[in-house]
Amino acid sequence: MIGSIGVLPVGRVPVMACNAVAAHVKTVLGLEAGVLAPLAEPHYALDRNRMQYNAAAILHALEAEPPPGHTKIVAVLNVDLFVPVFTHVFGEAREGGLCALVSLYRLGQDLHPKKPPGPQILDRLLKVSLHEAAHLFDLVHCFDDQCLMHFSMDLEALDRLPLAFCPTCKVLLR
Ligand SMILES: [Zn+2]
Ligand SMILES: [Zn+2]
Repeated sequence: MIGSIGVLPVGRVPVMACNAVAAHVKTVLGLEAGVLAPLAEPHYALDRNRMQYNAAAILHALEAEPPPGHTKIVAVLNVDLFVPVFTHVFGEAREGGLCALVSLYRLGQDLHPKKPPGPQILDRLLKVSLHEAAHLFDLVHCFDDQCLMHFSMDLEALDRLPLAFCPTCKVLLR
C-alpha cells in the first residue's frame, strides 16, 4: 500500500486527537500522514428534521474540493453524523473513496471541545479512524471479531476490538 493520509479537522476538534490519528496511521497502517489546517463546522450538512449531520453531504463536499497533497483524507469531526438507514454512525467511508469521516460525538460523554479527549475516547477514535481509512483502500467488513474491519454496532463492540487488523486484512492492506 502506498500513499499518504491527510487528517483533516472539521469544526471544533482537539488538535491532539488529530495528531493521534496521524501517528496511528503511520504505525498501524504504515502510511505517511499529516494533520491539515482545519475547516469550518459543516453547517450545510445539518438535517433540520433529525438535528443531525448528513454524512453523505459532508463526504460529497470534501470530495468535490479535497485539500491537496495527500492520497486520501480522513476528516475528524465532533458532530452527530447519520446516514439514512442508521440512527447514527461513528464514521463513514465508501470502499475506494477519497475521503472518510469519523466523529467524536458518539464516542463518549466526557468530551469538551477545549479539553483533550480521555484515553478511552481516544482509543475509540483511533479504531474508527483506522477502520474508515482502510475502507478507502478497498477493504470491506471482516467476520473476525478481533479485527479492526469487524463492523461494530455499538461502543461495547468497539471496545472489544484490538487496535489491529487480522492477518487476512493485513495482507489485503498491502
Ligand atoms: Zn465499515
Ligand atoms: Zn480482518
